[in-house]
Amino acid sequence: MLFKLLFPTENFCYFCKDDTPYLEGRLCRDCRDNYEPMHRGFLLRDDSIERVYASVFYNSFARELVHQFKFNDKSYLYEPIAHMMHMTIIEESLTDFDLIVPVPIHWRKEAIRGYNQSLLLAEELSRRTGIPVDKKSLVKSSWTKEQNRLTKYQREENLKGSFSIKDGASMSGRRILLIDDIYTTGNTLKSCASQLKKAGAKEVTGLVFATMNG
Ligand SMILES: [Zn+2]
Repeated sequence: MLFKLLFPTENFCYFCKDDTPYLEGRLCRDCRDNYEPMHRGFLLRDDSIERVYASVFYNSFARELVHQFKFNDKSYLYEPIAHMMHMTIIEESLTDFDLIVPVPIHWRKEAIRGYNQSLLLAEELSRRTGIPVDKKSLVKSSWTKEQNRLTKYQREENLKGSFSIKDGASMSGRRILLIDDIYTTGNTLKSCASQLKKAGAKEVTGLVFATMNG
């Protein structure tokens, strides 16, 4: 009871702020009903990354949730998003990994935003699975524009050469679960995976929160 008085927000939905006892992953039932769950993988035609798993379809609710998370300073929304991604891990038995690696953002963008959204998701998934996070080896070395404002061709050009492996870091023999919030063209995951493979990774699998694919 004292705990409840001290922390009165514990029954609030993190998205709509409604007070409800029926929270799951910090979201109320009404908000959760807006999800179109996927929890499945799809194949990529790519040498570096064979398969990507997605938790939900990128509908208007998922878009708004991610937008609030990334651009409106609501870093606490990592909890409901990671909750859905953890459900994908459980349903698809994605347990056979040595490392969780978040897609990095440029240090300047992280300084402006205050956090890397993929790292917050990766750290929560690590807490839930026990698989360690490597947040240092893969880096975003050049400043790129927001991908969602560019055409497909511009996106590919924009990403070329923008990810790299830190000097001296090795991914030798590692099976890696690569984490991002949204999957659109796949170029981000492919660029990251090719760097991880060059550094010796045995296998790279993607896990994203939302996608329009499939
Ligand atoms: Zn709600």
